Amino acid sequence: MSIASSIPLSIVIPVYNEALNLPTLFARLYPVLDALGRRYEIIFTNDGSADRSIELLRAQYAARPDVTRVIDFNSNYGQHMAIMAAFERVRGEVIVTLDADLQNPPEEIPKLLAKMDAGHDYVGGYRLNRQDSWFRTYASKLINFVREQTTSIEMTDQGCMLRAYSRGVIDAIVRSGAINTFIPALAYSLSSNPAEVGVKHEERHAGVSNYSFYSLIRLNFDLITGFSLAPLQYFTMFAGACSAGSFVLVIVLALRRLIVGPEEGGLFTLFGILFFLVSVTMVGIGLIGEYVGRTYQVVRARQRYHVKEMLETK
Ligand code: UDP
Ligand code: MG
Repeated sequence: MSIASSIPLSIVIPVYNEALNLPTLFARLYPVLDALGRRYEIIFTNDGSADRSIELLRAQYAARPDVTRVIDFNSNYGQHMAIMAAFERVRGEVIVTLDADLQNPPEEIPKLLAKMDAGHDYVGGYRLNRQDSWFRTYASKLINFVREQTTSIEMTDQGCMLRAYSRGVIDAIVRSGAINTFIPALAYSLSSNPAEVGVKHEERHAGVSNYSFYSLIRLNFDLITGFSLAPLQYFTMFAGACSAGSFVLVIVLALRRLIVGPEEGGLFTLFGILFFLVSVTMVGIGLIGEYVGRTYQVVRARQRYHVKEMLETK
């Protein structure tokens, strides 16, 4: 292990259009970390922000070059890719992720570190008093339920990004070369002694969530199809049951024709059955497409993001 990789703590923060939040974040985060009495670094990834975020990060780097590192992406690659880029560069033995919008209070970091010190290799935060919209909260409960049914990942709150990881888990995540991934779930599946702690949750300090309805759906697809083949397997079973049912129906119709004679009125029933089966097939093709697309991305192994500039003191 190189000397560079032996500091105790790395904080990883993705930043996308957070100019209104960064000054408060800096003012609250640095004192918490300075008070810990351990060496640390903070890695901010500017994920192609269109506002003044990068200027603020530059100024912060100039003010605290001893502990600040900035990865500047050329464009927007998404929260998880921003975190991955930082994971590939961390020097800390313990790594903590948090959001830049102060929904995860920096004052809660010592709680996670205490759990890590107790010997866990992964500590997930769950939000004690979730301050999100009604819709977000319930959609997330539903996804939690689906995830519990389809994967072996146990997590009270997969949406909370305030989490701590051991270096071993982070190295394994980086080695996995994951592309569309849901980092908390991947970390869980690679950890051997996970734990959870309740953390406070605040309303977004300023600005609006960067997640549209569409990107939330995408993210949850990543969560379900990225960690299990269950959707494919359930679908195959369902399709199997459908074809068995249709086979029985064909026998019944054939016998009926022989015994009772040809029918006319049944035409639309047949259409109904046909349309149903066609739609089942379409869903199946879409589902297979999800996995094929994912396989394609991994096989293609194209550079996943482009770093325009790194601000760091060697
Ligand atoms: N973020 C990012 N790239 C994106 C979207 C979000 O780096 O494309 C960052 C954002 O700056 C914040 C974190 O990811 O630090 C969580 O984003 P947001 O608060 O919009 O999500 P929510 O809290 O609504 O889930
Ligand atoms: Mg947020």
